[in-house]
Amino acid sequence: MRRIYLDNNATTPVLPEVFEAMRPYFSEHFGNASSIHHHGQETRAAVEGARESVAALLNCRPAEIIFTSGGTESDNLAVAGLAAPGDHVITSAIEHHAVLHACKHLEEQGCELTCVPVDSKGLVDPDDVRRALRPNTRLITIMMANNETGVLQPVHEMAEIAAESGAVFHTDAVQAAAKVPIDVRQIGCHALSISGHKIHAPQGIGALYVNKDIPIRPLLHGGRHERSRRAGTENVPGIVALGKAAQLAKATLDQGRDREMSTMRDRLEQGILAQVEDAVVNGAGAPRVPNTSNIRFDHIEGEALVIALDLKGLAVSTGAACSSGAIEPSHVLVAIGLRPDQARASIRFSLGKQTTAEDIGEALRLVPESVGRLRAISPRYTKQAVST
Ligand code: PLP
Repeated sequence: MRRIYLDNNATTPVLPEVFEAMRPYFSEHFGNASSIHHHGQETRAAVEGARESVAALLNCRPAEIIFTSGGTESDNLAVAGLAAPGDHVITSAIEHHAVLHACKHLEEQGCELTCVPVDSKGLVDPDDVRRALRPNTRLITIMMANNETGVLQPVHEMAEIAAESGAVFHTDAVQAAAKVPIDVRQIGCHALSISGHKIHAPQGIGALYVNKDIPIRPLLHGGRHERSRRAGTENVPGIVALGKAAQLAKATLDQGRDREMSTMRDRLEQGILAQVEDAVVNGAGAPRVPNTSNIRFDHIEGEALVIALDLKGLAVSTGAACSSGAIEPSHVLVAIGLRPDQARASIRFSLGKQTTAEDIGEALRLVPESVGRLRAISPRYTKQAVST
């Protein structure tokens, strides 16, 4: 069966060039990057080269990059490392759980927390952030691109608000990196998270940019790795892979080749809307990353559609998280005002570098067919249901 993968916001395949770059660091170049002999120097040079590539993607200094185990660790390091009990933290209702739960944990330890809402497009209103400020606001953390809808937040304005109030601004750019240009100086953020496996590097590697003037408390204590900001022997193959993926992403963005992605995404979206009635794009009208489309197919269960499409070879996902047997509606889609049944009827399509025009053509054949079949057997999809 032909398999089509449109779930790149969950994870991306490692690109062949990235795999080739990291491969020697499992065997020939195996040294500990902290060793002073030849083997250590070899891997140290590779780590520092990768740091330069990641810094070039984000337009910061190499010394401002901390390598981590992924987006979750980067977010946790930013939240726990930049705020302390007694501080006030502002975040948004649509953050990834890596930020939301890290903030909730801080709250349990004595931080004050404000979670600002979003509008029906999934956008945070900077005025809500401004109104939430308190004299002890230390950290504002608002994501750059949402993982479910792809909606891009006005992060530059958030950074300005933080700067005016003397707070630090962190943004989770895990789903924005490699999809839109990121310039930390232009944004004015103090900290920014990225993850390797969302940009065609492997799972288990990530980075946190932290401005050189901002002290950050480490999560992990031990050796003096990463300028004492993250202890632990470096994951050299992962770091080399992240550097290579960053280089490739920068070249794609510099050459404007990211437009090919939005052309394919738009074709998929328009094609589905043209063929399927009662389908609505979540986050439509807001600026979005070029690879993501979240579509609500009223009167069906998203999980059932994911399974039906998987049986035909098309991998997509719902925004819903499964916890202890109960399918909770996505907190992101509920935050933009969807009813639980509407949130559960939503599917995320996310393209990657390997996605082809043929993949989109095939998806455009499979999705209307599967939605039609599920609605035909759905007691909820009646003429009456359509008109309500
Ligand atoms: N932040 C966002 C917006 C994400 O989409 C993800 C992963 O889905 C993460 C953080 C966590 O990244 P990781 O899987 O590398 O821990």
